[in-house]
Amino acid sequence: MVSFLSRVLIIDLSLKKFRTEDRGLLFSERIGGTGVAIRLLNEFCPEGADPLGPENPIILSVGALTSLFPLASKCVAMFKSPLTGNLGESHAGGRTAVTIRMAGYGAIVITGRSEEPVYLSISPDGVTFHDARSLWGMTRGDTAARIIRSYDGTPGNRTILRIGRAGERMVRYAAVTTETFRHFGRMGLGAVFGSKQLKAIVVSGEDTVPVSDGKTYRQLYDRLFDQVTKSPLMKKYHDIGTPINILPLSTINSVPTRNLTTSKLEGGKNLAGEEFAARFLARRVACSHCPVSCIHIAQIRTPYPHDPYFFKTTPVCYDYELIYSLGFMVGISDPWQVLTLIDEIEGTGMDAMSSGVVAAYTTEAMKNGLITSEMTGGISLAFGEPDTYLEFFRALADQQLPLYRDLGRGVDYAAGIYGGQEYALSFGKNEMPGYHTGPAAIIGYLVGSRHSHLDGAGYSIDQKPDNKSPEEIALDLYTEEVWRQILSSLVVCFFARGLYTEDVVSECLAVSGISMEKNSMLKVGEDILREKYMFKFREGFSLDSDKLRLPARVTEQVSGKGYITEDIIRKGVATYNDLIKNGKNPSGMDQIIT
Ligand code: SF4
Repeated sequence: MVSFLSRVLIIDLSLKKFRTEDRGLLFSERIGGTGVAIRLLNEFCPEGADPLGPENPIILSVGALTSLFPLASKCVAMFKSPLTGNLGESHAGGRTAVTIRMAGYGAIVITGRSEEPVYLSISPDGVTFHDARSLWGMTRGDTAARIIRSYDGTPGNRTILRIGRAGERMVRYAAVTTETFRHFGRMGLGAVFGSKQLKAIVVSGEDTVPVSDGKTYRQLYDRLFDQVTKSPLMKKYHDIGTPINILPLSTINSVPTRNLTTSKLEGGKNLAGEEFAARFLARRVACSHCPVSCIHIAQIRTPYPHDPYFFKTTPVCYDYELIYSLGFMVGISDPWQVLTLIDEIEGTGMDAMSSGVVAAYTTEAMKNGLITSEMTGGISLAFGEPDTYLEFFRALADQQLPLYRDLGRGVDYAAGIYGGQEYALSFGKNEMPGYHTGPAAIIGYLVGSRHSHLDGAGYSIDQKPDNKSPEEIALDLYTEEVWRQILSSLVVCFFARGLYTEDVVSECLAVSGISMEKNSMLKVGEDILREKYMFKFREGFSLDSDKLRLPARVTEQVSGKGYITEDIIRKGVATYNDLIKNGKNPSGMDQIIT
């Protein structure tokens, strides 16, 4: 048996102290990532904790395959979400996971609250607490990262996680950015950093990771690498990236446009992925240990006012979700304008999806007279007008006026005050992702532990030709979610889910030092999923179908599967509730536990 992930670094920001614990048993039972993070969250987060209080822990966790296999490139963050009030889970790529492992840690737990702004340098030897008062309040988060990069001389592989001003001001969907273009975007990790006065974390390490049998490892690695680099699916993600899906999804009425007042693209092919690539793509980058390079960076040129031939050039990362939320969701169909809005959001450090949905809701609420320009500080939003959205996002991040403080708590909260619940597009209090593909997507948003399209991939179920019953949809979502708990414990990028089958995962675990049978793998996946829901229930979430708010707009607007009825949604939710609570379904659980 080789040495395996076991060290957990525990940092107390209030006392400015740290310690490490050996948790080898936890890692061998739970693999890493999500499986370990939910255990640690349950240990460190007291029931009813204030998500913005010192008692809310931040957990960062990597997995058994991290640093060893292609696309095992993600890091899991877990915390109590200030947006939803229950489980907060977010995954990011970049160099974070690999660096944490090379620093010798399987997980990092951060508790308490610093008296003054601070940033942390974490190395194999422990933690240094740095004064970050001079970095607090900067207009753009990337400036702070650049300064840290030039002053923090830690050796080896290095990652920098940091927040922008939205995080400092605790916008409840503020993000944490890692490197330059990767994010722990959803559910407000940035606000939790801000509440602790934690501006940034730098991790550096240069350890190597042992394997049980070098020859077998090499053969397995080469085989997987070969499959990834020859896969047509991965080539698609490399060439055009996720925006390749924009036109096909528009063709089947699945792109939420203008706050889902339509589900088809406007402006012809302007926002197609092919158009972005042809006109703006400057380079592609990759997370560590990934040969795919699906991260697409555009270059935009902005003329200086005094000289029309003199341009400022800015790199801007784009993907499907960003073009959705800052493009068609707010009625903008000029790619240059979309990229400009993406750059603004990147600078503020807010989650793009939540920000775009908040802007779309506010636009409609202004049109209906529920929100006035007096409340917005003179900004009059209208779909398709980028300049007013730029001003709006700046004001939202700054949080100066009461309206923006309400909008900074998400559309569910804002609609509770200003009205317009029928078009406040959030599910489980998390703003809608960019897929109106059919009932499976909507049921998945409502019941998913993260209320995200990544929970159970309902959008993918909807795109299959058959029309499933709500009970079948719930079972498909559940089955997929059980397996996704394993992938997100390893922690593998979901783009590689077709590659990492049960057999492949068994082989990879064996050379990584864990022996786990296929049957017990699914059982572990179920246990992790159920433990996540136990945390959600403990914090007040309910899967009771009558208690989940369903915005009427999703049933009024045609989807990829035609019109969705509330009845189908409620039945799907009820079946999923049964699967989570009772752990069995006479017709379906046999497929899950063999
Ligand atoms: S496929 Fe893309 S997101 Fe996934 S690990 Fe590779 S570069 Fe990162």
